[in-house]
Amino acid sequence: MNNPSRFSVTILGNGSAIPTQNHNHASQLIIYRNKYFLIDCGEGTQMQLIKYKIKYHKIDNIFISHLHGDHFFGLIGLISTYHLLGRERPLHIYGPCALENTLEKLIKVVSIKLKYKLIFYELKNKNKLPIFEDNHLSVFAFPLNHRVPTWGFMFKEKPIQLSIKKCFVDEFKPSIKDILNIKNGMDYIDSGGSIIPNKEITHPAPKLLSYAYCSDTKYDESIIEHIKDVTLLYHEATFENSLQDMATEKFHSTADDAATIAQKSNAGKLILGHFSARNNNLSTLLEQALMIFNSTFISKEGEKYLIS
Ligand SMILES: [Zn+2]
Repeated sequence: MNNPSRFSVTILGNGSAIPTQNHNHASQLIIYRNKYFLIDCGEGTQMQLIKYKIKYHKIDNIFISHLHGDHFFGLIGLISTYHLLGRERPLHIYGPCALENTLEKLIKVVSIKLKYKLIFYELKNKNKLPIFEDNHLSVFAFPLNHRVPTWGFMFKEKPIQLSIKKCFVDEFKPSIKDILNIKNGMDYIDSGGSIIPNKEITHPAPKLLSYAYCSDTKYDESIIEHIKDVTLLYHEATFENSLQDMATEKFHSTADDAATIAQKSNAGKLILGHFSARNNNLSTLLEQALMIFNSTFISKEGEKYLIS
């Protein structure tokens, strides 16, 4: 049940506005218990999905952070391919308000009558509730600080019910009601009125895992409350520290910015991405971030990172 590889992210594109030989436009695939989610879909995402042999027909939910081309120009192509492949299952798309209208116009222009349904969910600034949830996972959207309305996404495991020790069940033969209470963390009171603490009769609860995506954004501490204690954080580091002025002007982050957000939010690990085409030496970015947050990595396209 708690397979350590149950939760992963595969980086499909970690470049920024202008693609380069080594960096495609933004996109990444989250797999959680065999459910596939796509975050952003820059131009070229389909080719990356094919190149890395990803079963992309399994994607049912796509989250678009904002309407800059490097984050969504690939979406219409993917929608069209699904149609050509005879997709029947609906595709759920979460994004800024104007996305629905933009895609519908494009679909009309190319005279496609889609064989499947597109279901849109508009991202709003005050999304307190999850924008997606199933029995095990919730996805939250939260505002970033960029030149246009932009959202980050937090994928969070829901608390898992505790598992009761067999020796306790054999000895005390608890009722179904007691079993449910114990699984939800309550202590057990035996027939003589003695309290048996929950932790003595259950196996230790597994660590709850989470993943946060923060791109694009300038340094903004209001992000921290939304990603507190995240297991793995992907934060943009478009520029190295010497280009701080440019980062501020363009509403992007530096290596220092990303590492400081990771440190202040008590993240487990940080992976950097959204690299400017000007950055041909990512080791400088890494060195700068490591000075602040020592569990930092440079994201690599095609690499699957386990969230554990
Ligand atoms: Zn942008």
